[in-house]
Amino acid sequence: MNADEIYGRIQNALERAGRKDKTAFVAVSKTRTVEEMQEAEKFSCIDFFGENRVQEAEAKRKIYGASRLRWRLIGHLQGNKARKAVELFDSIDSIDSVDLAVRVDRIAGELGKVMPVLIEVNTSGEASKSGIDREDFSELADKILTLSNLRLEGLMTVGPITDSEREIAAAFASLRELSEQARVQTGLTLPVLSMGMSGDFEIAIREGSTMVRIGTLLFGQRDYTKH
Ligand SMILES: *Cc1c(COP(=O)(O)O)cnc(C)c1O
Repeated sequence: MNADEIYGRIQNALERAGRKDKTAFVAVSKTRTVEEMQEAEKFSCIDFFGENRVQEAEAKRKIYGASRLRWRLIGHLQGNKARKAVELFDSIDSIDSVDLAVRVDRIAGELGKVMPVLIEVNTSGEASKSGIDREDFSELADKILTLSNLRLEGLMTVGPITDSEREIAAAFASLRELSEQARVQTGLTLPVLSMGMSGDFEIAIREGSTMVRIGTLLFGQRDYTKH
C-alpha cells in the first residue's frame, strides 16, 4: 500500500496548479476487508474512508472498532436505505434528488443529527452515471437550504470514462463552475469539491478538486467476487 506516494502526487499536482490550499484524501474502501482498511488508517495522509454500499459499510463498521477516520457514503443511496445511511455515515456525498434530500433530512431530524451532505452531479451526461443533471442542480440546492437537518458542504462528481484528458477536464471544470454559481445562489461557502479518482485525480486537482477519492491506486485492483 503506497498511500504516501499517492499523497506526494496530490501535493505535486497542487503545486503545479499553483494552489496553496489542500485536497483531502478519501480512501475508497468498497470491497476491501477490514484488515486492509485498518492498514490504510495507519497512514496519516488519509482523511476519510469512502464506501459505496450501505450494507457493506454496516457489516464492516460492526467489526471495525474505533476509527480515527470519518466514513463517507459515495455511492448512490436508495430511499429505503436512507435511515441506515444516516446512522452509519459522517457524510452523504451522493444526494441526487429532492426526494432523497427531503427523506434524509426527516430521518436526520428524527435521530437528532445534522447530516453533512454533498450534491452529486452528473457532469458527463453519461446515462449510466448517477447524480443530478446540471439543469436540475439549482432547484435541489435551493431545496436543501430549507432543510434544517442537512448541512450542504459542496458538490461531488464522477468523471467521464474516456481517454480524452480534455473531456475529463471539461467535466471537472463544469462542476467547479456550478459550485461557484451555487455559492452565489445559496450564500454558503461550499468548501468541498469532491472529484478525481485513481485514473484522473491529477486532472481534477488542476481543475480545483478539494477532495479526491482513491481506491485502486491505494489498495490494488478490486475483486467484486469477494463481496
Ligand atoms: C469506486 C469509486 C471511486 C474509486 O475509484 P478508483 O478508480 O478505484 O480509484 C471513487 N468514487 C466513486 C464514487 C466510486 O464509486
